[in-house]
Amino acid sequence: MFECDKCGCCCRHLDMSPLYAELDSGNGVCRYLDGNLCSIYENRPLLCRIDECYEKFFSEKISLEEYYSLNRQICEMLKRKDD
Ligand code: SF4
Ligand code: SF4
Repeated sequence: MFECDKCGCCCRHLDMSPLYAELDSGNGVCRYLDGNLCSIYENRPLLCRIDECYEKFFSEKISLEEYYSLNRQICEMLKRKDD
């Protein structure tokens, strides 16, 4: 399972991808973000589910190790933006 530290950074920069436009409250922050946590976590969209997205879209293209590594790089980039 992907190790997430629940910083909430990915949910505050939705304007970086058109895929998340429907969740964007207008300033890049997800309308469902409550503090740093997802208020609809159990029912969050597929695109917010890292492990399920791997199974559905990436498992035949890259290894899980590579996929996690890419996700971690994006997390770190987003954290730097929020510093
Ligand atoms: S930016 Fe990464 S570590 Fe932070 S909440 Fe999102 S997935 Fe988790
Ligand atoms: S639905 Fe939840 S996990 Fe997805 S971007 Fe919004 S707050 Fe983050």
